[in-house]
Amino acid sequence: MKWDRDVDVLVFGAGMGGMTAALVAAHEGLDVLLCEKTDQVGGTTSTSAGTIWVPGSSQAVRDGVPDNMDDARRFLAAEIGPRAEAVREAFLEAGPKALDYLEARTDVKFVAPPRHPDYHSNQPGRALAGRALAPIPFDARVLGKDFDRVRPPIAPFMVLGGMMVGKPDIPYLIKPFASVANFTAATKLLLRHATDRLRFKRGTRLVMGNALVARLFHSLRQTKAAIVYDARLVELVRAKDRVEGAVVDIGDKRQTIRARRGVVLATGGFAPNDKLRAEYMPGVPVRHSNAFAGASGDGFTAAQRTGAAVDDKHTSPVFYFPSSAHKEDLFPHILLDRAKPGLIAVNKDGRRFVNESDNYHDFADAMLRTNSASPCIPAWLICDRSFIRDYGIGVVHPGSGERTIARFVRDGYLKTAGTLMELAGKIGVDGRGLLATVQEHNRYAETGVDEAFGKGGTEYNQFNGDPDNKPNPCLRPIGEAPYFALAVYPSTMGTCVGLSTDGDARVLDGDGKPIAGLYACGNDMASLFRGVYVGPGITLGPALVFAYRAVMAIKNG
Ligand SMILES: Cc1cc2nc3c(=O)[nH]c(=O)nc-3n(C[C@H](O)[C@H](O)[C@H](O)COP(=O)(O)OP(=O)(O)OC[C@H]3O[C@@H](n4cnc5c(N)ncnc54)[C@H](O)[C@@H]3O)c2cc1C
Repeated sequence: MKWDRDVDVLVFGAGMGGMTAALVAAHEGLDVLLCEKTDQVGGTTSTSAGTIWVPGSSQAVRDGVPDNMDDARRFLAAEIGPRAEAVREAFLEAGPKALDYLEARTDVKFVAPPRHPDYHSNQPGRALAGRALAPIPFDARVLGKDFDRVRPPIAPFMVLGGMMVGKPDIPYLIKPFASVANFTAATKLLLRHATDRLRFKRGTRLVMGNALVARLFHSLRQTKAAIVYDARLVELVRAKDRVEGAVVDIGDKRQTIRARRGVVLATGGFAPNDKLRAEYMPGVPVRHSNAFAGASGDGFTAAQRTGAAVDDKHTSPVFYFPSSAHKEDLFPHILLDRAKPGLIAVNKDGRRFVNESDNYHDFADAMLRTNSASPCIPAWLICDRSFIRDYGIGVVHPGSGERTIARFVRDGYLKTAGTLMELAGKIGVDGRGLLATVQEHNRYAETGVDEAFGKGGTEYNQFNGDPDNKPNPCLRPIGEAPYFALAVYPSTMGTCVGLSTDGDARVLDGDGKPIAGLYACGNDMASLFRGVYVGPGITLGPALVFAYRAVMAIKNG
């Protein structure tokens, strides 16, 4: 093989997995090249909430919400059973080390919020805080014109032409006049944004996944790691038992690049790839994906062509959101509306089919499980006018006035009617069923106990409810007309099926043996959670940890 270029470590994909791998490699003194097929860093990571699930971290101790590793083990055993045990143990062992490593050397820094429960918060060993860590907001002004290299978040995560809004900002912005503190915080955010817009295309106060990507990018720029854009993995080059490098299209030039120590695949899985979805989830009626279109399965398929095995024994082949579609935008209903009091989700019979305050994956999974009994793709979120005033729904912000709401009705995003029967007719669901469901729901709201599905019954449910709503933060009657309905569909946010690896992220062949020189992390690697959505941050957490493990294995191997 004639090589055009030689490096120690060759990384594909500049999302969470790839940027972390490149960053750690650079800090370990390895000569690393990060190839990104687009002209921006970030992939799906940049549009994510940026939460990472890593048990037992020193950050959790520092922030006053210490976690216990034995509890985490018990919790995972209850959730996943005896699957992926070696990889799971590797994750638990290296998680806190990886975080400390990055915090000590780079700007990749996280905090542990005081409350962020595991998703099945009734399981033994669950944590109510300390495992889910959030990236610290980032001031992207330091990136100068390279700020354009950071892929922006999806449009619905921004307001006022590019200002990012995190969950903690929402109360100030919705009720700026509620207190002096709210007014000061809101004014500060707005002034900062106005100043930003004089120099930048969007706001530079980044939160969530965009802050995470910008932190990784900023940290990488301070190392000797080289990033090449428009550089697409075409093929891996395998000689006998070892992957020696890759064929890469850089712009319109094809190059062969040798990786003396290892190749790390982090091209983001295949969630938006219709063909691969059809192959790994045959017959599953899912047409939408929230993942970045560029994460289209390149690493996953290239590795298979060199003999890598696929691990597809998962409870669910992908992770889901329920999403509504507004014009070009797909809005993931993660935490802002479903759990709030005064909203129900119904199927074609006008009946509820799920605890609306359960996590997004379980909600969408219930849509898929019950769709054949009574169609719920789409499912309809139903509420009254006061609900939208207080909490918003989908891309319609809380406090929206009549003109704004009328605009969303006109463009077809919201359906509305003066009676529930009329609303049912407009959305094609059974009117009597809907009426009976709302009456039943309203009875539960009076007692505070949802006898049908247990809405608001767990710590996690209540976390996303309204703490001021008594007795149950997730239940209040659906009251006066007009009524509103919004269609939601199951959509893939990321893949669980992925390349089979060991605990050091070494890609395995069909005999379960590592293919020398080949590593995978992020969604290219099969999820250690085996299709069970155990808590917030379960794709980005492992992406970070296994990128770290892969590079340490390369260094020591
Ligand atoms: C709205 C939303 C919110 C989410 N929130 C969270 C959250 O809070 N916590 C969590 O854990 N998960 C979350 N997720 C899921 C999470 O964002 C993804 O699972 C994660 O970003 C995947 O990271 P990755 O590094 O594998 O891939 P990505 O971040 O998608 O990066 C892959 C990169 O590889 C590049 N690439 C693709 N093919 C090639 C090629 N041939 N050559 C070179 N480069 C290539 C792509 O262009 C892309 O830049 C969320 C997802 C969405 C959609």
